[in-house]
Amino acid sequence: MSTTAAPAGEKMLSFHENVMLAVEKAGALTDLPKGLLDQIKISNVVVKVNFPVKTSRGYEVISGWRVQHSHHKLPAKGGIRYSILADQEEVEALAALMTFKCAIVDVPFGGAKGAIKIDRRNYTEEELERITRRYSAELIKRNCIGPALDVPAPDYGTGAKEMAWIADTYAAFHPKDIDALGCVTGKPVTQGGIRGRVEATGRGIVYGLTEACRNANDMARLGLPPGLAGKTAVVQGFGNVGFHTAKFLAEAGTRVIAVAEWNGAVINASGLDILALDEHRKATGSILNFPGARTIPNGADAMELDCDILVPAALENQITSLNAPRIKARIIAEGANGPTTMEAEEILLAKGSIIIPDVFLNAGGVTVSYFEWLKNLSHVRFGRMDRRFEQKAYERMLTAIESSTGKRFADSERNLITHGADEIDLVNSGLEDTMISAYQQIREVMARDPRIKDLRTAAFVSSIQKVATSYLELGVFP
Ligand code: NAD
Repeated sequence: MSTTAAPAGEKMLSFHENVMLAVEKAGALTDLPKGLLDQIKISNVVVKVNFPVKTSRGYEVISGWRVQHSHHKLPAKGGIRYSILADQEEVEALAALMTFKCAIVDVPFGGAKGAIKIDRRNYTEEELERITRRYSAELIKRNCIGPALDVPAPDYGTGAKEMAWIADTYAAFHPKDIDALGCVTGKPVTQGGIRGRVEATGRGIVYGLTEACRNANDMARLGLPPGLAGKTAVVQGFGNVGFHTAKFLAEAGTRVIAVAEWNGAVINASGLDILALDEHRKATGSILNFPGARTIPNGADAMELDCDILVPAALENQITSLNAPRIKARIIAEGANGPTTMEAEEILLAKGSIIIPDVFLNAGGVTVSYFEWLKNLSHVRFGRMDRRFEQKAYERMLTAIESSTGKRFADSERNLITHGADEIDLVNSGLEDTMISAYQQIREVMARDPRIKDLRTAAFVSSIQKVATSYLELGVFP
């Protein structure tokens, strides 16, 4: 998806150009040599595949890509998107974002991304399986997938089912690879996946937002009280990222007043019941006409509603110079990759809004994918060895306290305290810690350099420096 509509006479930058502009803006604030910055910007490997697939309409040629943006650390890591709008430029932009995202959250991977140019609604499940398995075989032939090389994951238009097909295809070609399950993440839990991966991106977004909204001074500058409770939010896109973000925001006490989809939006100023909206979508095939909410035909209009937090969680280039002047939200929380153009960002920053950038905020997905990969390589579920041991140690401690005080803990209190951490507890704890530490690192970069005024530039400065250090330590740039 190269360009979007632009005002007459003005060329709107493509998604890839916007990402490169952000890298250049941040790179200019580092003292890295040009050659090193050039290497950090460019895609290391770009593979395009075209293959035939038999569908109910006859044979069709399907196109796909896999881009490994950076090999400064291996494996390379990044999702696979099924979208009719996909093109090479888009995949390169997404792969580049993965490099910086992994660096920001200290996940030791290079960046990658893949796409298949299809509208999945036009295919049966059987056809989608055939397409996914054939695409996987094309990646295997080119050494573009493997637990040590390149590890895909879900993205727009894909989920656990596609990842299971990819893992199965890879294992069939590599029967002696004991780590074969680590060739892809986001798998179903029964197929080597990890608990908490499905909701990880949305959960990470809400951990990140919680940390950003905790600072009373920052919030006062926006004219808002600290904390998520009581704030209002609009979410664009009700897929994996949008649904889970809306759900966790509602759990944190934020009123989600509108959800927008490609075919319209639903609005309720008192707050939407997110779980009921999901049920309505499952039952009717659409979020529209949700009982108790007002339906509007143009989803994009909902982004301009008066609210505290706007979460674009659909696709890139959704907030442009065209609609940015009308956006009222003080906090733009980028759930999608590349939802805000650089021009729109300038407009929003000039209005005093803050933008919590994609490269940080939606990194929960890759963080938990990293945990899944570690689980696959270690061949053991997190918590399996120590959960019961922990529980018994806490029980002994409580019993000792009870006998020395002569008081008994209530059963519910005892269960809460003695509960040993299982996989989901450890995953969520690791995710929360990652999001908080990464946010604090970004803020420290801002605090150190008064030239850096926004979170995106700080996030890119921090990650460019980390990637550069890797290259220098590898001796590539002596
Ligand atoms: P998804 O396919 O699960 O959901 C996307 C949703 O957006 C769908 O419901 C779709 O109908 C809707 N949509 C499409 N066009 C729209 C429009 N113009 N207006 C409103 N809604 C629209 O995809 P996802 O996994 O939730 O990914 C969404 C974004 O988040 C993408 O930019 C993706 O790269 C990014 N992301 C995803 C993950 C992940 O773990 N899945 C991780 C990081 C970033």
